[in-house]
Amino acid sequence: MSTLNTQGTALITGASSGIGATYADRLAKRGFDLILVARDQARLETLAAELRSKTSARVEVLKADLTDASHRSALEQRLRNDASITLLVNNAGVATNGTLAEADLAEVDRLIQLNIVALTHLASAAAAGFVARGRGAIVNIASVVPMIPERFNAVYAASKAYVLSLTQSLNAEIGQSGVQVQAVMPGATRTEIWERAGMDINAFPPEMVMDVNEMVDAALAGFDQKERVTIPSLSNAADWDAFLNARLALGPNLSLQHAAARYKTPGA
Ligand code: NAP
Repeated sequence: MSTLNTQGTALITGASSGIGATYADRLAKRGFDLILVARDQARLETLAAELRSKTSARVEVLKADLTDASHRSALEQRLRNDASITLLVNNAGVATNGTLAEADLAEVDRLIQLNIVALTHLASAAAAGFVARGRGAIVNIASVVPMIPERFNAVYAASKAYVLSLTQSLNAEIGQSGVQVQAVMPGATRTEIWERAGMDINAFPPEMVMDVNEMVDAALAGFDQKERVTIPSLSNAADWDAFLNARLALGPNLSLQHAAARYKTPGA
């Protein structure tokens, strides 16, 4: 796709609702052309028509089920080879409810396919294309739940811990190649994800729930500031740095020739 807009093209997964649809709106207004990806083609077409009428963005709709390997691989090819693409917003995701012991494992597998496998494949393809072209950015939508896994559904929290870890490693791998990589960690945000997972967002105290517009605008402000990790509601950025520093302080003792004294058998 040739591009009229100077920013290039942003490919947004999960663009039919919530956070992805809001990114689409903001990025069109920022001068990106768009490729909108999700399963619900009618919703994507409605959003595309609205954005074409409001902005000068060229908007393409791509219906895809990202749990389907053949749909994924078409997108991977596109990310590798379409030089107009300059931004991937890896946003599509589902949540689930209930304990691991009582989980429907088919549902668990679908979550892993979407939240982990699809995100990984698309990030890999985008990284290859962007590094080769010396330009581009990858935004992976994680969550704050890796910070509080004991309070959330195990599989969802673990999938988002994966997204955070993958993004941190990816930054180390390609952050010096002219490619920007950001993990976004939203707290509870008012979107359809809760209802889709059988949960009621209104059960949260209102002061804990962010409007989706405010959440995406904050994430984009963090992107503009070249943050590697953005937590939209975190007022003191030094708190995240302290958390990172505590992790790094473990470094010298994480891999040593001998076990720690408390693990040594007395007399051995
Ligand atoms: P949402 O409104 O339910 O949006 C999810 C999007 O993913 C939809 O566009 C949906 O479109 C798409 N999607 C779902 N299954 C798909 C599949 N198999 N293939 C392709 N697309 C699929 O929820 P949201 O809150 O905006 O979620 C976006 C991301 O934010 C997710 O990764 C979520 O984990 C993360 N997040 C949300 C919150 C929150 O509180 N809302 C907090 C932290 C992180 P179709 O149904 O049309 O396919």
